[in-house]
Amino acid sequence: MFKWLVVIAAVVLGYAWWRHQRRQDAQERAAERARHAAQRAGPPAPGAMVRCRHCGVYLPAADAVRGGLGPYCCDEHRRLAEG
Ligand SMILES: [Zn+2]
Repeated sequence: MFKWLVVIAAVVLGYAWWRHQRRQDAQERAAERARHAAQRAGPPAPGAMVRCRHCGVYLPAADAVRGGLGPYCCDEHRRLAEG
């Protein structure tokens, strides 16, 4: 009976230790990402997403139709919004 308590305690402690390690790893990765993001801070990337002013759909800036008031997903929405 006592043997099982030792086994269970070992499993619980092992699990707690594993969780602790994982949390530390995640924190280090998050700090690393924040450093990289700070280094890359500057003009928006070419893959940036814009939002259609008419229907609100998100699309890559490179595929957007430029209107007088902003980006649109297609020429028809630019026409509908701007007349
Ligand atoms: Zn649209």
